[in-house]
Amino acid sequence: MKYTKISSDKHFDLAKFPKGEISKFWLHIINNGLGEPIRVPILVARGQKEGPVLGLNAALHGNELNGINVIQRVFDRLDSSDIVLKGTVIGILVANVPGVLLGQRRFNDDFDLNRQAPGSENGIASSVYIHRLIDRVIKHFDYFLDLHTTGYGKQNCWHIRADLSDKETKNLALLQNPEAILHSTPDEKTLRGYASSLGIKSLTLELKDPFIFQPEVVNESAVAIWNVMNYLDMVPNPRSNPFEDTWLVEKSRWMRSNAGGILTVFPEILSSVEEGEKIAEVRNIFGELNMEFFAPNSGIVIAKNVNPIAQTGSAILNLAHKIERVPCHIT
Ligand SMILES: [Zn+2]
Repeated sequence: MKYTKISSDKHFDLAKFPKGEISKFWLHIINNGLGEPIRVPILVARGQKEGPVLGLNAALHGNELNGINVIQRVFDRLDSSDIVLKGTVIGILVANVPGVLLGQRRFNDDFDLNRQAPGSENGIASSVYIHRLIDRVIKHFDYFLDLHTTGYGKQNCWHIRADLSDKETKNLALLQNPEAILHSTPDEKTLRGYASSLGIKSLTLELKDPFIFQPEVVNESAVAIWNVMNYLDMVPNPRSNPFEDTWLVEKSRWMRSNAGGILTVFPEILSSVEEGEKIAEVRNIFGELNMEFFAPNSGIVIAKNVNPIAQTGSAILNLAHKIERVPCHIT
């Protein structure tokens, strides 16, 4: 498949994209305050043969950038191969265009696009924006991978959040070989939750850290998505990706500090902690110990706060406590 020239439109008519080609497309979604278009960059690879529609979405939170690079890699791989694609891959390179340009998680009206679904044509700016993105693009998907990272001041392991009670969704998570898979049934105001309510098999990929392209996790995720496409019979050959074990997490929760001050969190990402182990401390600005924190149960660390300036109520770490080590074999 080869890239074609760039086009732009207010409408997203999937049937008009040429088969056997990769189209670069700007979706004119709303206007800014000077009446100029705000446009969402999208890649569309339409196969010669019929098959499912796989949707990839990056930077719904404007500081979460790794997914942009992942989508570029997936389409470059399609471009450089002579495989016959079955079905369609749609990659929204930047979902939250104003947020990315401002370097911030939220939309430019200070609302979180991932808490606004399904949005409204008569709502505030972020509500109209997400409504049109869903109505024009996302509703076409059969399968949906929403690519995120953790937020400002935090570190994440590479993990997937998905409803593991659905067997196909669980397989789609396992075959991606993440470091952990968290069972979660999403709120319908999130994009994953709303897409799920439309019958779209939807998973959230948490690709490590914000504000950066991290080549290792980008590469692993691009391989993982290729394996998803192979599982869905869209491309012929899986890419090499040795089956490894992963953490299957039934329950996890963010621990928070009920003291404010200078926070140090001790365990590293993916390390095991024992019940009663000291995991963090808060000191005042003169270095005096204010509060110590201990693990309420044994488990592993999915994510942690690395910002030392921690007001009362700040996150400490995300502790997965109902866990099982399983091979990434699909059934
Ligand atoms: Zn996010």
